[in-house]
Amino acid sequence: MIPSILPTYNRAPLNFVKGEGSWLIEEKGDRYLDLAAGIAVNSLGHAHPKLVDALTQQAQALWHTSNLYGIPKQQELADRLVAHTFADTVFFTNSGTESCELAVKMARKYFFEKGAPDKVDIIAFEGSFHGRSSAGIAAAGSEKMTKGFGPLLPGFHHVPFGDHDALHAAITDQTAAVIIEPVQGEGGIRPVPDHCLKGLRDLCDAHGILLIFDEVQCGVGRTGKLFAHEWAGIAPDIMMVAKGIGGGFPIGCVLATEDAASGMTAGSHGSTYGGNPLGCAVGCAVMDEIANDAFLQQVNDRANQLRQGLEGLVASHPDVFEGVQGRGLMLGLKCKAANTDVVAAGYANHVLTVPAGDNVVRLLPALTLTPEDASEALKRLDAAASQIS
Ligand SMILES: *Cc1c(COP(=O)(O)O)cnc(C)c1O
Repeated sequence: MIPSILPTYNRAPLNFVKGEGSWLIEEKGDRYLDLAAGIAVNSLGHAHPKLVDALTQQAQALWHTSNLYGIPKQQELADRLVAHTFADTVFFTNSGTESCELAVKMARKYFFEKGAPDKVDIIAFEGSFHGRSSAGIAAAGSEKMTKGFGPLLPGFHHVPFGDHDALHAAITDQTAAVIIEPVQGEGGIRPVPDHCLKGLRDLCDAHGILLIFDEVQCGVGRTGKLFAHEWAGIAPDIMMVAKGIGGGFPIGCVLATEDAASGMTAGSHGSTYGGNPLGCAVGCAVMDEIANDAFLQQVNDRANQLRQGLEGLVASHPDVFEGVQGRGLMLGLKCKAANTDVVAAGYANHVLTVPAGDNVVRLLPALTLTPEDASEALKRLDAAASQIS
């Protein structure tokens, strides 16, 4: 008999009922150190007092009106995002995959309005993840994501990750955009080197192609900059954001330059809940905390501590791990043992991690991880590794 919840997930037998900072408390009262953070969502940990305040205050004032009317908190969050990024304008969604939908629509509409309606193709990378909507799975292109769901949204072309020649060869007169995660998340915490992001920017400029960054996982302070592409000193034309910007409240957005957004006019796109007062109140509180040098310095400090510890962990368990990769607090342990066994051993030692592609275990802790919790995490990961070897 089919379960009352559609069985699309492989769930661990853990039922969390409460959270405090980087800790989750299970039904029976057991405490787990959370290095998953809802898959890079709980950017400020669980039950952060400023986020709880922002949400409860807004909940007492007004939950929902509609984009039929002005939404002051949405305006505030948009202004803040524009002030802190390359972008001139923002559209609010409820999730990463909805941001992908708009990014693709925006790129196609751009060229349509410029009198180049044949420019519809999007180049994407193997191993990428852009969500589960029709545009999202077409963009990722992997059989795992698309099998059985055809016919797929046409116009997507895939090149191997890091294959510059294949990328050049894929560009045609019909290419509208390139979509890429500056750090691949689901694909196995694979950063795109800074010089490659720069090269990609140059390539797009040379061919008049829009560059879309998917920073749904790597954005909002995760890598130690507000957005990951800032490390490379370049900017996209369009950027997808979600996960960390809501700190656990479902909100996402698409950021764009004025030019890239020029095709989007009244009536061309919309969302019932996108930019609702609750989500935007929380988003403003997240930005207040994260978008400053002192906070980002802490992220980098914690990242250095964790990374150094992980290098030691890899050295002492060469039979379990191969190496550490990633950037900031978006870290991957490349495994020799099965990554799912490492995650399971973590559960047994009350530390939560996430498997990713390429046999990697992801560590995506709250950006507010304390030095003490980072040390404790390393101890528990060491115990988990010892259990496997
Ligand atoms: C999670 C993720 C998405 C999809 O976000 P949802 O909110 O699950 O729709 C898209 N792109 C990247 C890089 C992601 O990590």
